[in-house]
Amino acid sequence: MTHQRDFFGGTTDDGPQAVVPVLVPVAVNTAYSYKVPEGMSVRPGSIVRVPLGNREVVGAVWDGPIDSNVNPKKLKSILHAYEAKPISDDLRRFVDWVANWTLGAPGMVLRMILRSEEALEPEPMVTGYRRLFDVEPDRMTTAREKVLEYLEDGMAWTKAGLAGVAGVSASVVEGLYKQGVLETVMMPATPPLPDPDPNKKGRTLNEHQQNAADRLTAAIGNGFKAFLIDGVTGSGKTEVYFEAIAEAMRQNKQALVLVPEIALTSQFLTRFEERFGARPAEWHSQVPAKRRERTWRGVANGEVKVVVGARSSLFLPFKDLGLIVVDEEHDGAYKQDDRVPYNARDMAVVRGHISKFPVVLASATPSVESQVNVHSGRYEMLRLPARASGAEMPTIKSVDMRTEGPERGSWLAPQLVQEMATALGNGNQSLLFLNRRGYAPLTLCRTCGHRFHCENCSAWLVEHRFKGKLVCHHCGYSQPVPHKCPECEKPDTLVACGPGVERIGEEVSSLFPEARVLVLSSDLPGGMERVKREMKLVEEGEVDIVIGTQLVAKGHNFPLMTLVGIIDADLGLSNGDPRAGERTFQLLAQVTGRAGRIHGKGLGILQSYAPEQPVIQALLSGNPDEFYHAEIESRQRAGLPPFGRLAALIISGTDRGETESYAKCLIGILPLLDGVTVLGPAEAALALVRGRYRFRLLVMAGRAFDLQGFIRNWLSQAPNPKGGIRLQVDIDPQNFF
Ligand code: ADP
Ligand code: ZN
Repeated sequence: MTHQRDFFGGTTDDGPQAVVPVLVPVAVNTAYSYKVPEGMSVRPGSIVRVPLGNREVVGAVWDGPIDSNVNPKKLKSILHAYEAKPISDDLRRFVDWVANWTLGAPGMVLRMILRSEEALEPEPMVTGYRRLFDVEPDRMTTAREKVLEYLEDGMAWTKAGLAGVAGVSASVVEGLYKQGVLETVMMPATPPLPDPDPNKKGRTLNEHQQNAADRLTAAIGNGFKAFLIDGVTGSGKTEVYFEAIAEAMRQNKQALVLVPEIALTSQFLTRFEERFGARPAEWHSQVPAKRRERTWRGVANGEVKVVVGARSSLFLPFKDLGLIVVDEEHDGAYKQDDRVPYNARDMAVVRGHISKFPVVLASATPSVESQVNVHSGRYEMLRLPARASGAEMPTIKSVDMRTEGPERGSWLAPQLVQEMATALGNGNQSLLFLNRRGYAPLTLCRTCGHRFHCENCSAWLVEHRFKGKLVCHHCGYSQPVPHKCPECEKPDTLVACGPGVERIGEEVSSLFPEARVLVLSSDLPGGMERVKREMKLVEEGEVDIVIGTQLVAKGHNFPLMTLVGIIDADLGLSNGDPRAGERTFQLLAQVTGRAGRIHGKGLGILQSYAPEQPVIQALLSGNPDEFYHAEIESRQRAGLPPFGRLAALIISGTDRGETESYAKCLIGILPLLDGVTVLGPAEAALALVRGRYRFRLLVMAGRAFDLQGFIRNWLSQAPNPKGGIRLQVDIDPQNFF
């Protein structure tokens, strides 16, 4: 029996009762139908708790018709409607759009909005203490006096808050209450953050900055538009988009600033506070749950004006968003690879398009994609050609490691060591960059050649000498460094091959025993907090030589840093990634851009075994136009993004044979169609990760081809994967391993 029921208010056999579609956080493509219990009122967007199988989940009432094939008698009822405001029409369209684009389940995209269930209910009230002016305490003490002073104006305080400001113990407040001098009232918990002041005066902008800022402020409140701020490191891009944020706030709209790395938020917070007199809200995985809850509510009710955050903040339920800034827009961290694989930079543009507000991408090394969007007129380019401080860009030199390299077993070329000595002598800082954590990327036995590799992954174990461990960088497996070879059982035969940052640190310390040396990577005990503290010390000049991974590549200004040495400029160029050249250029330009940022006279030294490569040449010349031009041309010729479209299908499972057969079976049912090529299955470069074997298919098509439609149609014919095999579709993949 099938009933055709309308959205809201159809009939069921039990009499009139509304049935609504509810999107739940599971990997299915449609919403499920639920009954609305009597007395409950919901509309599209309402956030609700519903039964699902034998659990309860949080979902949202969605749009569109309900499934008419289900037996109304079997329908379950919504359990609870939260007080949070319903998800807006725009945000629902955004969820549908992202799901449609990524081929993800809309419910899984919705889940990124509904991260904290606590935030869906109003903030619980807390007990406040207030003065009753007609009662006097039996005797007065200094402590009591102090407390009463703060209560003169009749306002209520929490016990802890009051004791805190008065500098007395909580028992003093308690005592006054017992005597009836104070009464309790229920009051809202912590007041929201103070508002940033858009009219506080900022820096005087230079001409380029002013022109760019004028273009941005004119666009606020005037519909969708995408901008690309292309400005060399230190050109003052931040100051420019601060003006856009100020204008959004003046128009009572909210603003969101995306940054690629959590470590970058702290410096941003300080700068923002200097400019606007108050901090923006911060949103990323390390923000404590309680504060995230408050931010979520504040964003939804409009109390929070500006948010800075990681890519996930793109899914916050803003009341009236008027601007998104994507800082360091070229950064690979904007792409999420697991669960719903989305690119926050591109989806930010989509969100602006749907909700009709401008989106600003900023970078010193814009992505090829964004540059092509400028050429085709989709994005407007705003150029900042010089450093705001007037400082010259650093001089870049290369060292040919074939002829000018160090002796065997050392990693720093004589020329680099010489420059480090000079910097040290002048009281300046040096940075050595190597994007490799740990001590050595490979450990082997000198006697029998045994190599240590991870049992769950196709990867060598990396020696971490500080921790005394061999560690897998893919799954986190670790074991103590053994004293003898597990294969031939000879003692003391293990040798470390190649350098990681720890090993470079060792070499530096022996070359410059008097220097203050810091190895900065995510392995520092104490996590991100520790990294932030150490960065601050570097900023204050407490360190002479920093050896760092990509953690130090971004953001932070180090005023005393004049020398940057790239230990291995070729690393990352030979990994089969179509964006390898572009990525290497971006990373090395960012890192060398740390040299002489404020006072000029910076020097960057690139150690390379092939300094004739275009990437190195582009860095040496300081003029990347030619490099980008060649890069764009070769992508166009090869039909690679953004001129063609790519999708990766990653098939993984614990049984190698079954996983491969499933991948082959997908090829077997491939619809024949002009304009699309499917390559594979090929064993992934990382063939085994966390005990799962991985095979890849690569779909290539022209720009205008409906890639998603093709894949959706293809996979709808596929048998359901069995035996724990998983199929992940990655539209516009950024990683190819
Ligand atoms: P970017 O984001 O382009 O790397 P920043 O906005 O961080 O550059 O600016 C680099 C440095 O120059 C910062 O210390 C900033 O305070 C300073 N700065 C930016 N604009 C100006 C200006 N108009 N006048 C003086 N200093 C400026
Ligand atoms: Zn592993």
